[in-house]
Amino acid sequence: MALPRKKFVAGNWKMNMTSSEVAPYLEVFRQETYQINNVDLAIIPPFTALAKASEILGGTQRIRLGAQNMSPEAKGAYTGEISATMLRDLFVRYVLVGHSERRRLFGETDELVHRKVITALKSELRPILCIGETLEERQAGQEKEVLEAQLQVALHGLTPEELEEIIIAYEPVWAIGTGLTATPEQAQEAHQFIRGFLKTSAGPEIAGKTRILYGGSVTAENAGELLSQEDIDGALVGGASLDPRSFAEIAASVTAE
Ligand code: PEP
Repeated sequence: MALPRKKFVAGNWKMNMTSSEVAPYLEVFRQETYQINNVDLAIIPPFTALAKASEILGGTQRIRLGAQNMSPEAKGAYTGEISATMLRDLFVRYVLVGHSERRRLFGETDELVHRKVITALKSELRPILCIGETLEERQAGQEKEVLEAQLQVALHGLTPEELEEIIIAYEPVWAIGTGLTATPEQAQEAHQFIRGFLKTSAGPEIAGKTRILYGGSVTAENAGELLSQEDIDGALVGGASLDPRSFAEIAASVTAE
C-alpha cells in the first residue's frame, strides 16, 4: 500500500516583513509549532529576509525555507535577478514558480514557468508549481482546461525522477487575497483532476506521491475542512501566514485531522 502523503504547510509572506521582523516572528512560530511533527512546515519570506531566516533556522529540518521567485538563468548580466545558486547558498529548499501574482502582474508565461522549473530542479531546489484559473475561466466552465494547459507546459519533458521533486499548488486566482475560498468540494474536485493528470502523464506511483497544496484565503477557520479532503495535501498560505500564531494554528489544524 502506498505511504500516506505527509501534509505540507507553507507561508508565502509576499512583499511583507523586513529582516528585523524575522527573529520575533520565528520565536513565536517555533514556540507555537514545536510539538508538530507530522506536517512539513516552510516559510517563504521575501529575498531580503532570507539570509536572516536562514541564520536563525540553521540546518533545522523542522521549518524549511522557500523563495518566492527565481531567475531561469544560472548567472550573469541579469540585473535585479536572483539565481538558484544564490538561494541554495542560503539553504533554501523550495521555490515558488508561477505564482499567479507573477503571471498576472509581471507577465510570466507558461514557457517561462517551465524554464524556471528546469533551473530549480537542476539546482536541487524543489519547485512549488502554482497553477489556477481566473474567475472568468471558472465562470466559463474552463477551469480544467486551464489547469491542464498550465501543467502540460510547465512539466513538459520532465523525467520521472524530476517529477517526484515537484510540489503543486492549486490556487484559484479568484481566491487569492480576496477572502473568497474555494469550497472543500470545489478544491477537492480540482485536486482530483490534477492528480488524474499526473496519473496519465507520469504514472500512478508518482501521482500517488505528489503533494498537491491548496492556496487561496486559507485561514485557521477554514484550513481543517479543506485539508481533510482526500487529495488536498497541505496549504500555501499568504495573508494568514504573516501572523505566526494564525499560521501555527493552520498547521495545528492539519495535525488535528
Ligand atoms: C498566496 O499568495 O499564495 C495565497 C494563497 O494568498 P492568500 O492566502 O492571502 O489568499
